[in-house]
Amino acid sequence: VEAIGTPEKAVVTTCAYCGVGCTFRAEMRGEQLVRMVPWKDGKANRGHSCVKGRFAWGYANHKERILKPMLRDTIEQPWREVTWEEAIGRVASEFRRIQAAHGRRSVGGITSSRCTNEETYLVQKLIRQGLGNNNVDTCARVCHSPTGYGLKATFGTSAGTQDFDSVMQADVMMVIGANPTDGHPVFASRMKRRLREGAKLIVVDPRRIDLVRSPHIEAQHHLPVRPGTNVALLTAMAHVVVTEGLVDEDYVRARCDWEGFADWATFVSDEARSPEATEALTGVPAQDLRAAARLYATGGKAAIYYGLGVTEHSQGSSTVIAIANLAMATGNVGLEGAGVNPLRGQNNVQGACDMGSFPHEYSGYRHVSDPSVRALFEEAWGVPLDPEPGLRIPNMLDAATDGAFRALFIQGEDILQSDPNTQHVAAGLAAMECVVVQDLFLNETANYAHVFLPGSTFLEKDGTFTNAERRIQRVRKVIEPRNGYADWEVVQLVAQALGLEWGYGHPAQIMDEIAALTPTFARVSYAALEEHGSLQWPATEASPLGTPTMHLDGFVRGQGQFIVTDYIPTDEKTGPRFPLLLTTGRILSHYNVGAQTRRTDNVAWHPEDRLEIHPVDAENRGLRDGDWVTLRSRAGETTLRCLVTERVAPGVVYTTFHHPETQANVITTDYSDWATNCPEYKVTAVQVAASNGP
Ligand code: SF4
Repeated sequence: VEAIGTPEKAVVTTCAYCGVGCTFRAEMRGEQLVRMVPWKDGKANRGHSCVKGRFAWGYANHKERILKPMLRDTIEQPWREVTWEEAIGRVASEFRRIQAAHGRRSVGGITSSRCTNEETYLVQKLIRQGLGNNNVDTCARVCHSPTGYGLKATFGTSAGTQDFDSVMQADVMMVIGANPTDGHPVFASRMKRRLREGAKLIVVDPRRIDLVRSPHIEAQHHLPVRPGTNVALLTAMAHVVVTEGLVDEDYVRARCDWEGFADWATFVSDEARSPEATEALTGVPAQDLRAAARLYATGGKAAIYYGLGVTEHSQGSSTVIAIANLAMATGNVGLEGAGVNPLRGQNNVQGACDMGSFPHEYSGYRHVSDPSVRALFEEAWGVPLDPEPGLRIPNMLDAATDGAFRALFIQGEDILQSDPNTQHVAAGLAAMECVVVQDLFLNETANYAHVFLPGSTFLEKDGTFTNAERRIQRVRKVIEPRNGYADWEVVQLVAQALGLEWGYGHPAQIMDEIAALTPTFARVSYAALEEHGSLQWPATEASPLGTPTMHLDGFVRGQGQFIVTDYIPTDEKTGPRFPLLLTTGRILSHYNVGAQTRRTDNVAWHPEDRLEIHPVDAENRGLRDGDWVTLRSRAGETTLRCLVTERVAPGVVYTTFHHPETQANVITTDYSDWATNCPEYKVTAVQVAASNGP
């Protein structure tokens, strides 16, 4: 503090890393940001922070940042710097040329959960209003799209049901497929506080994550589920609840569709779905599973927190539904201290989904085929809108290799690194005539781009993010955009070049439009956010101050809907050539593909990705801690160092995916969730062998 000196001014803004949404005071000397201080009045963090938000902001000034637009005619050519006018003009003329030659659905866009609500809203509007189709998708496709499907089908909307504060009223927590200590550290601290007060804990995870045993905390049950068998495990828990008479029948009769419940109860009661019958499949001892199910059903208010270990499976949507079924059957939704809560990975996954950046939905999760909703947007935007859902990211890539999809605008995403089966992504991008990348750095995807538009950091723009508890919070400009424009302004320039009469002067006006067209945001405005600090949607006439707990007086869809979820094994099988199962995840100091955190001092805490392997599996391969190994799957292979640890079970290996040298997605397969195409990142059959290094 002494070295930095007294700040001359401070701007209150929101962290751009994870879905906790911590508030910070960005302290300045002159025009120089000198320190990020967690803000005591931040409703999501109350003065706490982690090493990403506190220290990993220096990437804004990194020397590799691209600050001038660039063009090239083919991806073999070197880039040449051009004016903004020339670059934007090229985007518009290429998109129009390609549409004239190949039809209006031959182009599309991808937006990012790193961007503000206002920016993602504008990208989907650009595609729908300006390009006349619904080919817009977001990186939530590869993380929480099954949450969108599963929670909408059962509860009526895609959102966590509780606020963070109400974890302090939970009697039981079930954490499934999430590692909050690394992924959502500030919220994990609050969970731990409640656990130290005596709340009980069930952890469902193939790894012995930190929460299973940490100072003064020991989970009552750790169920080390075999990757790919979540649905079988949750069905076995439901079997115990139903067959042991632990259903909250009054709750189900009052709030849920009884016929749906009866069908589900009959299904899960079958002896073939008991813990004993599925023990060999899930790898979880039947008596442990029974005890965990009894604790969840009878231990008081029970809150489920889940992450990508639930969604990134071929049965991701089924798993979300199975969680919702279990919560409804035990009366654990729609009250403080209990609920179902997706822990969103990136800062604005919730917001990107809320803003209509899916190819089948407008903002507020309303289907594009609904004539009354379409009429609302047609009147506001002054053009007829396409009633057909558009292409998802993997379908865009497939259509590109087939020649039907020719141009793509990618905002704030490095799909070559983050999406599954790198070879498939590369082939799709290479087949396109015009790829536009808007980003901070020349990322891996930019190798296939024809136009590069410099992006702005969260420090350089105004807007809002929505965190994992549906809390809409202001992002405030701390420094002027180094590239000249905030991202929302760049999208507006593209829209104007396409002939659209956009004239937003400030993101507040974009939010006013969102509020006018989105019932759950009806009372959201920058003035209201200034007055209240933040708002949790729905913020409507009936709840102008927002809604901390959802489904209090009944489910959004009316009656809660039970849906039978049959366990269907993934097509990704182990065998003699690939006997181990690989699963992946994050570490505290880094963020996703590491584009930002690798360009800060945080890299020192985790300079490389390592492969965690159980001592038995390591010994069988003659491996010692720190040895180089080749990790090989049916899709591809990579080389990294191993970490011998009992944190993973025998037969399971694990790695993070923060460093491009590892290229973890060279290994992952094309399998994806049946309902949403969310990739099956969490189950890949692999072999591990000693290597001499890269
Ligand atoms: Fe908070 Fe998440 Fe940012 Fe850490 S990364 S400071 S937990 S919002």
